[in-house]
Amino acid sequence: MKINKIEPQGYCHGVINAINIANKILQNNDIKKPIYFLGSIIHNSHVIKDFEEKGIITIDEKGKSRLELLDMIDEGTVIFSAHGVSPQVYKKAMEKGVNIIDATCPMVKLVHNKMDKYLNLGYECIYIGTKNHPECEGVLGISDKIHFVTSVSDINNLNITSSSIYVTNQTTLSIYDIKDIFNELKNKYPSILIDDKICNATTIRQEAMANQKKVDLCIVVGDTKSSNTKKLVKVSNEHAHINTILCEDLKSLDKSLLKNVKSISISSGASTPPYLVDEIIDYIKKL
Ligand code: SF4
Repeated sequence: MKINKIEPQGYCHGVINAINIANKILQNNDIKKPIYFLGSIIHNSHVIKDFEEKGIITIDEKGKSRLELLDMIDEGTVIFSAHGVSPQVYKKAMEKGVNIIDATCPMVKLVHNKMDKYLNLGYECIYIGTKNHPECEGVLGISDKIHFVTSVSDINNLNITSSSIYVTNQTTLSIYDIKDIFNELKNKYPSILIDDKICNATTIRQEAMANQKKVDLCIVVGDTKSSNTKKLVKVSNEHAHINTILCEDLKSLDKSLLKNVKSISISSGASTPPYLVDEIIDYIKKL
């Protein structure tokens, strides 16, 4: 079996930053207890389980916003995830008197700052993202004046008359899909100021996926909640035209898919622990 490990792999700097912050908190004996993650600190269940074993409690519930989840925390320390939070979450946590630790990725913080800047300058602001993703919840919470676009078809419903329009986006979208959305926006609003904020870690991984050599099967290792992981699968399927699957770990790998497969490529999301990839590679090598 030929195996092509697609580089780069491993944690992105935003994930490393969040993990380092959580580890430092655990080592600090003076920190107010209990310690909570408000939502998943990063989107990987293995990493979260590891922190839970070390004593950090994750407050998460499908369908609940960060603001709603905060209702379940009344004391101790709350760690905001790499995806960032809205100003309302910050305010509510301060009012509750809990100790706040912010593990927001600097790239996401940059999007918040730019959005703030252009709203204050009086621009009509558009944000492109995914419904119910925590990163989008954080940015959209900056102002109810932000127009939210999830696909090209949403652009038809935009009714903006100002000539000062600013658009930015979620950091982990597909570099291909966003081009279509930006082009459509430019057609409708020629003076629009486009500020592409797909992060470097996302861009270089997607480019590597699109340009990979032909193989029978591509495996992307990562969490089903992880936006950047899901986009790697999409890019590989749609732009490298390779049958591609998402797999959380060796246990969840559907081994029947490896039948009659002679060549495999492996990539992983920016929040996937490298050992999960190595375990799958070792298994395939032994076949
Ligand atoms: S994928 Fe990009 S935006 Fe998300 S945590 Fe990593 S560096 Fe930050």
